[in-house]
Amino acid sequence: SRSQTKQEKEINIQVVVRCRGRNDRERRESSVPAMDIAPLSGREITLRNGVNVRNYTFDRVFGPQADQKEIYDNVVQPILDEVLQGYNCTIFAYGQTGTGKTYTMEGDLDMQMPSFADSNQRLITSGLGSIRIPTNAGIIPRTLYQLFKAIGNDPASMVTVSYMELYNEEFRDLFVDTNAKGEPNGPHIQVFDTGTKGNIQFQGLEEKRVQTAEQAIALMRDGSLRRRVAATRCNDTSSRSHAIFTINVLVRESALGSDGDYVLKRGKLNLVDLAGSENIGRSGAENMRAREAGQINQSLLTLGRVITCLVEKHQHIPYRDSKLTRVLKDSLGGKTRTCLIATVSPSKASIEETIKTLDYAGKAK
Ligand code: ADP
Ligand code: MG
Repeated sequence: SRSQTKQEKEINIQVVVRCRGRNDRERRESSVPAMDIAPLSGREITLRNGVNVRNYTFDRVFGPQADQKEIYDNVVQPILDEVLQGYNCTIFAYGQTGTGKTYTMEGDLDMQMPSFADSNQRLITSGLGSIRIPTNAGIIPRTLYQLFKAIGNDPASMVTVSYMELYNEEFRDLFVDTNAKGEPNGPHIQVFDTGTKGNIQFQGLEEKRVQTAEQAIALMRDGSLRRRVAATRCNDTSSRSHAIFTINVLVRESALGSDGDYVLKRGKLNLVDLAGSENIGRSGAENMRAREAGQINQSLLTLGRVITCLVEKHQHIPYRDSKLTRVLKDSLGGKTRTCLIATVSPSKASIEETIKTLDYAGKAK
């Protein structure tokens, strides 16, 4: 895929759809799923709602057979390559609660990782020896394994990770425990625009240096458990929070600079598990009452607008209208690459939300 045409190169927002398989309940409810995925093109999806039929086309559509490795190889690996070239990139999982955003981003949290004990694994052989990645591992662990495989043990390179949650337009560091009342123990997280390149800097957010994929994955798991615990405490299945896992890399160029010194490139990858799309409100329209009641998620709404403005090449991009788009400003638009993975359920009962998800995703094309 190195032989991209110029035109393809300029399109830096990619939109793919992932439809999970039906669970037991959905299978009992209906004899057939509510959609077809064209197997030949791999790009079309057809929704059936009685006599109503809707067709959509995306950059890729992955059906229930597509496993975690297929998503990684097709969607993430090319983006990691860009990050290693010094780009800032972002991958979003967007969709209704229960459609597989967290499964896509993290994988099955309950899996033992890294554990080499069971047969539920795939062997990946690299120049550095063998890495076993559990079949259920999602984008974050796979990216970390491949990243460390790519940079090897070059002492000049450096990887740091951070993990934050955005809930009710408030940030929380997922590397830091909360106190008994569930309040953050750490400092308030503040976001700053810095320098002429518009880089975003944080105050009060831990950025941990990691030397192996396993270390970073352990941090991810701890952070995700903190997110779960907090959600359970406020009687929410975390469906209203966004989780942003960021990998910062400093890698050495293979060629020396003109003065004979090493040249280091800085890249960044944001892996974002968005709040459930049902929180966007009716087709994204602004319903003032719902908004006051906090039912409309400002960040989801603004993300949609920012992406639309980027796609339509507007002069003004409303990054400042939400916390989420503010923190991702240096990784959306400009010299960056973005991928939106829209996750959907194949069930008839979810069709209204599925239509909304695909309409939102369609605007990003
Ligand atoms: P979300 O984060 O969007 O609310 P989850 O990732 O928690 O959804 O997924 C809901 C359930 O469906 C979980 O039990 C998850 O393991 C399962 N699941 C989701 N997508 C898939 C998939 N592609 N293959 C197998 N199981 C999946
Ligand atoms: Mg989730």
